[in-house]
Amino acid sequence: MKEIAIVGGGPAGALCGERLASAGFKVTIFDERLAWEKPCGGGLTYKAIEEYPFLLDSPHPKKIIRTAELISSRGHRARFEMNRPIVIYARKVLNGLLLDRAVAAGCSTICARVTSVNTNAKQVRLTAGGEEQVSDFVVLAAGARNQLLADSTALGAQDLEMTLGYFVPTEEDILKVKFLKEFEGYLWSFPRADHLSVGICARMGQATSQQLRRHLDAFVLEEKIPTSGAQLYSHVLPSPQAKTIRGRRIVGRNWAMAGDAAATVDPITGEGLYYALRSGDLLAQALAAGVPEEYPEKLRAAFSADLEFAANIAKKVFRGKFVGGAITTRMVQLLNYSPAFRDLVRDVFSGSQNYRTLKRRLWNQLGITIAEFAHSLLDPRRIAVGATPASENESSQ
Ligand SMILES: Cc1cc2nc3c(=O)[nH]c(=O)nc-3n(C[C@H](O)[C@H](O)[C@H](O)COP(=O)(O)OP(=O)(O)OC[C@H]3O[C@@H](n4cnc5c(N)ncnc54)[C@H](O)[C@@H]3O)c2cc1C
Repeated sequence: MKEIAIVGGGPAGALCGERLASAGFKVTIFDERLAWEKPCGGGLTYKAIEEYPFLLDSPHPKKIIRTAELISSRGHRARFEMNRPIVIYARKVLNGLLLDRAVAAGCSTICARVTSVNTNAKQVRLTAGGEEQVSDFVVLAAGARNQLLADSTALGAQDLEMTLGYFVPTEEDILKVKFLKEFEGYLWSFPRADHLSVGICARMGQATSQQLRRHLDAFVLEEKIPTSGAQLYSHVLPSPQAKTIRGRRIVGRNWAMAGDAAATVDPITGEGLYYALRSGDLLAQALAAGVPEEYPEKLRAAFSADLEFAANIAKKVFRGKFVGGAITTRMVQLLNYSPAFRDLVRDVFSGSQNYRTLKRRLWNQLGITIAEFAHSLLDPRRIAVGATPASENESSQ
């Protein structure tokens, strides 16, 4: 195998291309827009930076965020310093950086829409910008909703979230996340170098776009975010069910999927950038070793078993109850009261705490955490700045 076509020059396709070209393959990346402002928060957790240090070291404009604030559905707030920063890019900048690296490694890029892919013959034939192109293998990295191959299964409504947001030309230094009552999803405000990405994500079918817009506008108002010059965006985001992560076919004889196309997204947080990069990287490694069929196993060992676990608990995280209140509310309250819980949340934010060992860690620390929490409720002097008084906490959702 010598020639590889990649459909999609986002994080998955661009990194896969860079790695394949470096391994000696002749790679062409097709993207209808190349570097563009894809609707996104643009936040990269520390695990992404650790794996791909150029994301932090590059001279490209980005925001390094060390302070986060979680807000409950009732307005309780917990602000905390992260032990490891989150790096936030505008997507046009991030995609440009990744595509430049791919080109420097030897990839060719073609700015054209791919309208058909045929993998039935010995060689792959695809049509891009009306012209037929031939290759030995095709990587499908064209995002969440691209049914280019007849023998692959499209992601359905059960595996998708709807997102709506604004790019707001203002400056901020704190990353904010707000939960809503009995709502699978959340609101966010992610500061970038010269603007904010503010948005809402929700399981598909849970709310109409008008309802999402109302939640978003209320959040913008509450957080006093100026809306002058704001640009509205909307996009789908994979939020795969456990069975999709476990069973969906993502590799064939002469094709494979990476990134959102392969549904490599955290079903709780919606984090997809790290998984897009990592899946592109692992696919390139499998292809370079001549064993593309081993790619799903590589993904499973690296992260997809953990994402499957997350998919099984996602509903409980957003809708579950703990000591009489919503889990998300208790989480915000415990953050203020318990240093041990704060450490745990910091590790979840940085990506160094995976879901499968989270339960054990929670149980090991839960005793201490609840004792600390109860103690704090009884001792008003220990209530941290931003915490809601104990009497309100008791009656809250
Ligand atoms: C609103 C929103 C907020 C998000 N916030 C975050 C966040 O803060 N942090 C995080 O980690 N993840 C976030 N995500 C998820 C993240 O954006 C995705 O997981 C990530 O972009 C996936 O990368 P990808 O390369 O697989 O696909 P994409 O980035 O979607 O790239 C696909 C590329 O394929 C091209 N393409 C599509 N169809 C064709 C075609 N037919 N022919 C040619 N080219 C084509 C597109 O132009 C695009 O450049 C967010 C997603 C959304 C929607």
